[in-house]
Amino acid sequence: MTKTGNFIIRTIVLLAVLYTPAELFAFKDQSEPSDTVKIPEAALFLSEYVSIPSISGNENEAAYFFAKKCEEAGLHVHFISDDPGSVNFAASLYPLSSGKPNIIFQNHIDVVPAGDTSFWRFPPFEGRIAEGRVWGRGALDNKGLAVVQFFAIKSILDMAKETELPYNVTLLSVSGEETSSSTGAMIVAKNFKEVFNPAVVIGEGGSGMENLSIAPKVKQIFGISIAEKEHLWLKLTWRTENAGHTSIAEENNSTLLFVNGLSKLLNTPMPIIITPESELMMKSLGREVGGIVGKVMNNPDGKIFQKFVKKYAVENPELGDLFTNKITLSGVSSNNQSMNQNSSEVNAYLDCRLLPGVTADEMISYICSLINDPEMTVSVISLGKGGGKGTMPEFFFDKISDAIKYEFQGASVIPMLFPASADNVYFRQEGVPVYGLNPFIVDYEQINAIHNYNEFIDIEDLVRGISVYSFLLKDLLTTSEED
Ligand SMILES: [Zn+2]
Repeated sequence: MTKTGNFIIRTIVLLAVLYTPAELFAFKDQSEPSDTVKIPEAALFLSEYVSIPSISGNENEAAYFFAKKCEEAGLHVHFISDDPGSVNFAASLYPLSSGKPNIIFQNHIDVVPAGDTSFWRFPPFEGRIAEGRVWGRGALDNKGLAVVQFFAIKSILDMAKETELPYNVTLLSVSGEETSSSTGAMIVAKNFKEVFNPAVVIGEGGSGMENLSIAPKVKQIFGISIAEKEHLWLKLTWRTENAGHTSIAEENNSTLLFVNGLSKLLNTPMPIIITPESELMMKSLGREVGGIVGKVMNNPDGKIFQKFVKKYAVENPELGDLFTNKITLSGVSSNNQSMNQNSSEVNAYLDCRLLPGVTADEMISYICSLINDPEMTVSVISLGKGGGKGTMPEFFFDKISDAIKYEFQGASVIPMLFPASADNVYFRQEGVPVYGLNPFIVDYEQINAIHNYNEFIDIEDLVRGISVYSFLLKDLLTTSEED
């Protein structure tokens, strides 16, 4: 059969089997019962999942709930570990023992604490459905994505029963992403790579964005993350003998040195660093944007590009983060015991996010040379295991891109560097192509609610996300890399 014929038939088959439940878009709040309007099953499922608190270290109950649902749906469930606080399970189309190359959807079960619950509009662990959204801790990060992945896999179950498919598809739910990953993704990728035989891993990361000022003519841009930043948590300490009575001005007391040093550090713009990953991102964006701006983006070695990025980084800090290491002061402490006595020791806690390829030593020597104070010492509290090179877009990237463009007609898709850390680094370190994508549009209100109060996901996001990943799976399972 010719390629064209093959393509047409495949497209018709795809369109016929695709899961496009139009009625799912017509939904109402739980508080407004109606016999004609139905809340999508995925939203009800997410609501239930959110209502089981799973703060890092306490994932087991939520994991058992999810695993049971997978089993009931007909997936093969395999617990990699189920120790308290380190529960990790896989739910696959075929048993892992089949050895088929595996498309892995990775998500994390754990969530961060809810914080001050009086700031929440709805109780954080209720899973309230209201205003076309599911509310609660984990609704977006990361239970919403897990539900999208699960329903996409469910949509191909019948296909797997009828035909022997070329890939296995696995939902991989892990613990401890919000802490150190040492109870989850890190051990799974390191010790069970052979068991999983991953062809590709798709986890959390980029998403769709609308109305980006950098690309005014492009309606929707989806960033698929190909690399993440690595965290480096530091404690800077100023310790001096100058801790006498505060009524006597002592020039070099610890608090003053601390204020001067930190103000120098935090008020100096971070140098722009163009990594291979951000270069690729800008070139791809340049192609989408077109015109003169597009040409500038396409030439990252040029002087104009550097100027452009510098200007842009100042105006758009979220974008600037993609070209710089980032330093955030997350807290301070001192040994102060009395208002009229200078503290001998003052500490600053820094959350640094490193671009791929930047080492902890490089970051520490940057900080030391900038502050340039012999009274200051630096200690490392925690260093991520990330770093390393990103996944350069290949076959699976193109397929994910096709799936996005099927659901979001006219959208642009680019590879991106994700400005936070994620579990994606661990399988990538094992040589597996790994991408990060929340397959729906995420706006600033939603981004700001992550790890914050009033976290939510739009029900429409769930439905469209399922559509993207259902298309992706059907496409991958009816095609092969050789085509
Ligand atoms: Zn997350």
